[in-house]
Amino acid sequence: MYRFALKVYGCQMNVYDGDKIRSALVARGWREASEDEADVVVLNGCSIRDKAEQKVWSDLGRYGERWAREGKPSVAVTGCVAQNVGRRMAARFPWVRFVSGPRHIGVVPEGLERLMEGEREKFFHLDDDPRAFLDLPGATVERVNRWKAFITIAHGCDNFCSYCIVPYVRGRFVSRPPEEILAEMRVLVMDGVQEITLLGQNVDSYGQDLPTAYSFSDLLRAGVDTGVRRLRFVTSHPKDFTPDVVEAMAERDDVLCPSVNLPIQSGSDGMLKRMNRRYTVEDFRRIVSLLRSRLPDLGLTTDLIVGHPGETEEDFQDSLAVLREFRFDLVHSAAYSPRQGTAAALWADQVPRDVSMARLNEVNELQKEIATEINRALVGRTVVVLLDDVAPRGAGMLQGRTPSDKVVLVEAGEELLGRFVSVEITRGESWCLTGRIVAPAE
Ligand code: SF4
Repeated sequence: MYRFALKVYGCQMNVYDGDKIRSALVARGWREASEDEADVVVLNGCSIRDKAEQKVWSDLGRYGERWAREGKPSVAVTGCVAQNVGRRMAARFPWVRFVSGPRHIGVVPEGLERLMEGEREKFFHLDDDPRAFLDLPGATVERVNRWKAFITIAHGCDNFCSYCIVPYVRGRFVSRPPEEILAEMRVLVMDGVQEITLLGQNVDSYGQDLPTAYSFSDLLRAGVDTGVRRLRFVTSHPKDFTPDVVEAMAERDDVLCPSVNLPIQSGSDGMLKRMNRRYTVEDFRRIVSLLRSRLPDLGLTTDLIVGHPGETEEDFQDSLAVLREFRFDLVHSAAYSPRQGTAAALWADQVPRDVSMARLNEVNELQKEIATEINRALVGRTVVVLLDDVAPRGAGMLQGRTPSDKVVLVEAGEELLGRFVSVEITRGESWCLTGRIVAPAE
């Protein structure tokens, strides 16, 4: 029996791909082990930012000593990082013996077995066809969490935002057939999953490439009928977001959670144009206003980049202004980092790193204030929470999420995991709420 260790970096998409790799290997008789015992270490890595990529490089360096001593572990690099720099990693480290991009995870289990059976060649699965996709089954995955699951509804992205490497490493936008997604959802529901999150780089484009007319809101409506208790999705794109999605959410707010991640990226129309985002702040404002008028308990989060090439102090002030205006519940903020191969990496007007970092700090400070105010205002309210994990904060605490996707900590025993409870909020901090259970919600 071969032993593997799996390390995952990056977004939910990578976590889900990691779960699929784990399941496929376990189903073929492999055993999960620690890195020190493993025959193969699978590094499913991210390449969106330089920092994420550096984590994988630094992991790789650590296996040299055991490799010299025992000829183990062989390392498989998968995910976006493999597509982007996997060949360089394999050239530098002899223990990197398998490289496969995110569109080829279907080849991982068999490829690793061939490696274990003595194949001497290094494996590279980095097909250049951006529409090719070799997947692994999703519904049977060994999930880290029993109550929550993710389903990829579409692969890749066609948008080519100036700063983003996703279309290059994950390929073109390809929607999965709805019947396949819905069948997977039904299996998960039968397996006890209470909450499903539909994943895509741009969920609002879902269906545009299907042979028959089928939209994202059609998928949401059909998803509700699978019997799942809670249904979410991530990530939306302001240029493709349509009112019928809001209508679907409002119609079935008992299942479709009122939470949306709508990345604004910048508060300056000039920057949005350079970023190739294809919407204006005014377009964004219209969507937020529609969402908030139809979904009063909406949790609204966003992504924001500071220090994109050409960002002036005035552009940056516009970004601070939109944070004050829209008062997001959470902001995924990042300082721009150039990714080789993208348009913005070639532009001459790069913003110095110290300026970007100072701007990032300012964004984080402002957002902390806003989130604290929003969360403190929730004290005294009662919300329904799905308790889905043990809290990292210590014994006797569980954590869960509100429909609006806020983290709530409560004192509770593990027998309540996977249950819905009504919680009165007693404390609000910038990143989470604390509460006490007042009643079971079932
Ligand atoms: S929409 Fe833009 S930022 Fe999002 S994945 Fe596609 S290219 Fe990247």
